[in-house]
Amino acid sequence: MKKIVMKFGGTSVATGKNIRHVAKLIANNRSEECGVVAVVSALEDVTNQLIQAAEEAKKGNREYIRKFKQEILERHLATAKEAIKDKQLEDETAQVLVSRVGELEQVLKGIVYVNELSPKSMDTVLSFGEKLSAPIVSGALKDLGLESEHLTGGEAGIVTDSNFGEAGLLMNFTKFQVKKNLEPLLKKGAVPVITGFIAATQDGETTTLGRGGSDYTATIMGAALGADEVWIWTDVNGLMTADPKIVPSAKTINELAFQEATELTIFGAKAMHPRALEPARKEGIPVRIRNVFNPDNPGTLITKEHKIKTKDGVKAVTLVRNVAVITVSGAGMVGAPGTAAKVFEVLGKENINILMISQSVSEANISLVIQRNLLERAVNTLEIALLGRDFIREVTSEDDVCVVAVLGAGMKGMPGVASRIFSAVAREGINVRMIAQGSSELNVSFIVKETDGEETVRAIHKEFKLSQK
Ligand code: ADP
Ligand code: ASP
Ligand code: MG
Repeated sequence: MKKIVMKFGGTSVATGKNIRHVAKLIANNRSEECGVVAVVSALEDVTNQLIQAAEEAKKGNREYIRKFKQEILERHLATAKEAIKDKQLEDETAQVLVSRVGELEQVLKGIVYVNELSPKSMDTVLSFGEKLSAPIVSGALKDLGLESEHLTGGEAGIVTDSNFGEAGLLMNFTKFQVKKNLEPLLKKGAVPVITGFIAATQDGETTTLGRGGSDYTATIMGAALGADEVWIWTDVNGLMTADPKIVPSAKTINELAFQEATELTIFGAKAMHPRALEPARKEGIPVRIRNVFNPDNPGTLITKEHKIKTKDGVKAVTLVRNVAVITVSGAGMVGAPGTAAKVFEVLGKENINILMISQSVSEANISLVIQRNLLERAVNTLEIALLGRDFIREVTSEDDVCVVAVLGAGMKGMPGVASRIFSAVAREGINVRMIAQGSSELNVSFIVKETDGEETVRAIHKEFKLSQK
């Protein structure tokens, strides 16, 4: 039997109407010969709301929790009502929702009591977004006459380590469990609906895979089941030459190799999880990115090989928001070997991922780009670890910046691309704060002020005539 894993993002399941539409898409593609596994995100914006609720709980804001509980319950009940026409099916789903929101309230109250929000309890709170959306999607499928079951990532068999917030996958174990749990469902013709983003440790504790992790769940499922394809349904036509919200004339890229697509998504295209394509690449499973609101469009196909090369080598330009720059400086750093190594070691131990680095020619400073929400922790850690060393003068930071990345495999060894990029930016009067070239030579990325980010993307998109490709 053919198998396709289909993932639906937050916008795709934002309303009851959208969920009905999603259920129909699944029904149209499923058949005796082709099993479908669905992976779903939380309803649009729910994950952000859960983060906020957890933070309010930590502050002891009981009134906020009470209101939040009511609002989230009402939104999901209304969504279920719109998505599921059969009264009995709707009631069954509503029962699950009421009981899960009850659990969520208990967890939030627990945070209020202990006055502490650990990464572990944050993951438990966040898991409710997907734990509330999956039953509705499953109910909508049953409403169309399909057999369906909803499962959490943990129930489906995704096993991770206990690095809460960004848990690491244990693939061999996962493969075995997922096969065991899902193959019988597929054999009997049912559509399993799996919560994206969330998984569990070997002891059954809830973990999350990191923001945007539902795409990752989909490829994990695909790899574990040996699926024929993974389809990531989203709200745009595929991976594009730029975010269409910034450059309305951006074009869909028809075909990409895994390596390029990975680079593109790491640098912000479609807000995908950085490891999202890895399981599919390893197993050679093609991934399609398709528009749920325009299913006739073929979207973007990501495969091992592709032949298309554009003349300039530049394929896309992306914007990474929510980043910050840390600069470690001190004249004495010149010729003091091991400073960079020490900086990486210190941040690595804290699980802080460095997105970009650049060292000035004089070696008097090193700048690093990290996620903005980790800035305070990173600066504190570095100060404690480094300031005792006499050659380091200071650790400074800027949080009003963004990364612009220009990407494309054909850029390799192509002279003049960088100069065209920076001339185009300079013509707009925009100041480049820091430059770094990825070691893969698949991208040139640099830092500008956050308020200049969109203008920079548009200038480069225009310079390389990406709308005409
Ligand atoms: P989902 O909820 O389906 O996971 P995301 O919001 O995570 O969707 O990602 C889709 C969004 O990514 C699009 O709506 C688009 O605005 C944005 N985006 C940014 N850069 C790109 C790009 N180069 N190609 C396509 N989409 C992009
Ligand atoms: N709901 C999660 C998030 O917003 C996972 C996802 O949508 O991919 O990050
Ligand atoms: Mg997403």
